[in-house]
Amino acid sequence: MKASILAVGTELLFGQTVNTNAAFLSENLNLMGFDVMYHFVVGDNPLRLKEKLADAFADTDLVILTGGLGPTQDDLTKEMVAEYMGAEMYLDENVVADLKAFFERRGGDMPENNMKQAYLPAGCTPFYNASGTAPGLALKKDGKIAICLPGPPREMKWLFENGVREYLQQFMEKKMVYRVIRTIGIGESDLEMQLMPLIEGQTDPTIATYAKEGECTLRIASQRDSEAEASAAVDDMTARVKAIAGEYIYSYENEDLNEVVVKLLKEKGLKIASAESCTGGLFASAITDVAGASEVLSSSYVTYSVESKINELGVPAETIERFGVVSKETAEAMAVGAKRRAGADIAISITGFAGPEFDPGQEAGEAYIGYAMGDIKGHFEVHTRRNIREWNRRYFMLRMLRAVYLLIR
Ligand code: AMP
Ligand code: MG
Repeated sequence: MKASILAVGTELLFGQTVNTNAAFLSENLNLMGFDVMYHFVVGDNPLRLKEKLADAFADTDLVILTGGLGPTQDDLTKEMVAEYMGAEMYLDENVVADLKAFFERRGGDMPENNMKQAYLPAGCTPFYNASGTAPGLALKKDGKIAICLPGPPREMKWLFENGVREYLQQFMEKKMVYRVIRTIGIGESDLEMQLMPLIEGQTDPTIATYAKEGECTLRIASQRDSEAEASAAVDDMTARVKAIAGEYIYSYENEDLNEVVVKLLKEKGLKIASAESCTGGLFASAITDVAGASEVLSSSYVTYSVESKINELGVPAETIERFGVVSKETAEAMAVGAKRRAGADIAISITGFAGPEFDPGQEAGEAYIGYAMGDIKGHFEVHTRRNIREWNRRYFMLRMLRAVYLLIR
């Protein structure tokens, strides 16, 4: 089934709010097997809203609208949808009760205009909202389906997961099963080349590669009459992908690299320490993003200055003088120092140039990642060749995670 997304809100046109709702809905609809054909954005204007709704329905059978379900006068989405589809509004007693309970919990009276949210188009399927005050709804007519969801992303997602997703299943004749595989250490085109024998001539399961933040992701999807059939097809293709590119795969379950690293450290009973310069703690932050990090992270040092590298990590001053602060020798000494001071099993360090400006003799995005593990020490070199500070710092952090992954996997 073909679908469109119609985001309503003048703030979107002003650029004050990013249209994340369209991204979320597109991703999830596609994963369910819908073909998303268009994104529309329209301001809080009833006439243009109806015009774009007509445009969307001209080419697609499902239109998901977000925004404009609030209690104020300029919130007109469901009224316009009802008008377009020829439905009267009725007062939904369930929503009235929900609203009263919502404001009671808050300990205040319900503002008069909130009652507007309890009016729904006759014949709709309501999606009651336990995460806010605006209910969502689906309205169907002559094979066309309009779904209205509130603008706040948290509420929109909650309603999608608690009602809309299940409602939409009835329109899928086939069942879609997919798996997202995450790789590191191979570029998108190389990966695609290696998998070409599988990709070529495949209609189901489909294999798609896409590059994302310094790594390459692979999606295997199958649409069959039953979920079991689709699932078996995906498993079979996964095994074939593994046989070709298994060495680059770090997750078959769409886990992020930091999650996998924490899981591996836990499994192996290893405590890690980090010593960071140009990443300023991003590595430690990524590790502590994962629940249960306390079992694996012992200490993290942010040693930005030369003095702190010497005083806090015990990097020999001569090493820095002789080889420079951004050097493999300094990186290794930082890791060795961090491991000793923290009493950890493994330590990872980084020293580099994040940019954006570089002095003569410095290379854009040059960094050294040091490691110490048991009695061994070593380093990885990183060259991003970019002068975007934000990007370099994040890339460096991902390379630190990758270094740990390669050391302990
Ligand atoms: P509304 O339902 O139109 O009252 O929207 C309430 C709030 O939701 C707005 O102030 C925005 O911050 C947010 N919002 C609305 N539409 C979107 C969208 N398409 N993507 C992300 N946030 C949105
Ligand atoms: Mg709005």
